[in-house]
Amino acid sequence: MLSCKDLVAHSSDYIDGQLGVRQRWSMRMHLAMCVNCRRFIKQMRLSQAVLRQLPRGQHAELDEIADKLAELRRQQR
Ligand SMILES: [Zn+2]
Repeated sequence: MLSCKDLVAHSSDYIDGQLGVRQRWSMRMHLAMCVNCRRFIKQMRLSQAVLRQLPRGQHAELDEIADKLAELRRQQR
């Protein structure tokens, strides 16, 4: 069984669909049981969606966006 640490370590590959069938399956099993990791993956997906919408050449503002996301996250609790 995957630990939460393992899941976090592979989370970006999981979201990008870079994992093999077995790894994907392990991730899904873990996510089915672990609400914290479900929340984490959801947040990751949201962050990536936001980043993808940014125009090119504005990566200096990434820190600002990360702050905003963190703030959003706090409000959701
Ligand atoms: Zn977990």
